[in-house]
Amino acid sequence: MLSHQSAAELWKLVDESSSLIHVTVPSDRRVKGRPGIAIHLSRRSSCAVHPARNPPRTRLEETVIDLWVTARSLDEAVGWVTSALGRRLTTQYKLREAVQARSRLPRRGVLAELLSPDSAGIHSVLEYRYVRYVERPHGLVGAKRQVRIRRDGRNEYRDQLYAEYGTAIELDGRLAHPGDTRWNDIRRDNAAAAIGITTLRYGWTEVTTSPCRAAAEIAKVLVSRGYSGVRACSPDCPVGRQEARAQPTSPRRDEQATATCRVPARAARRARPRSRERPAVHARAAESSGQC
Ligand SMILES: [Zn+2]
Repeated sequence: MLSHQSAAELWKLVDESSSLIHVTVPSDRRVKGRPGIAIHLSRRSSCAVHPARNPPRTRLEETVIDLWVTARSLDEAVGWVTSALGRRLTTQYKLREAVQARSRLPRRGVLAELLSPDSAGIHSVLEYRYVRYVERPHGLVGAKRQVRIRRDGRNEYRDQLYAEYGTAIELDGRLAHPGDTRWNDIRRDNAAAAIGITTLRYGWTEVTTSPCRAAAEIAKVLVSRGYSGVRACSPDCPVGRQEARAQPTSPRRDEQATATCRVPARAARRARPRSRERPAVHARAAESSGQC
């Protein structure tokens, strides 16, 4: 049956095509490798296969977990889960069931956190990083995620909304912003301002290299509107500092603050998502963990 990236294509979990065809076979089968085909062995192939879809493929949730296992980085692994949830192909509950069926999983703790009710609404790697490095370490809790708002007869979604404090956080991981998209964002922000909502926007650079600076900005806005509970993540963190409110944070201080936020340096360097495809190999075998 098709699996991994090939199954992901069939499930519309990914838009780009894989250079390899990924196939999973029972672990007791002897299969000869062929160029262009990546072979994965599994002891639980009989329960991983979707019962009806043709061509035969792993179930969506099994596909996501397989890709979590073979991901080369945490960002890549998180991206598979958030993509499945963000595209509304599955639910946290169904993925948790799939996780429970696996006896061995790398980064199981992170996956459990990602599938917890507290993480509901995280639909991208950038949003995950925002929650992990900006929101939670600085006490910026209470925002509702993926809040639906009607504008001009259409539904729109705000990434993070502190409704009580009239503040929205928008996270944008796009490398480029076509003119129409940019103006649509501006119209959204203008419409939000008209009803008393201030919008703050952050991208990859802000969230991955200067999370404390972003947190300090958000904290100032929220505190000015009555929010309490913000906290510094370290002695050098500018969040909550009186002097930080009067003077812009210097780059040097922000660098120090970023370091104390424990953003892994290597993770920051590889912050932008890369192609999920592995280097081309002609044949490869990997043992999927767990049994039915
Ligand atoms: Zn901080």
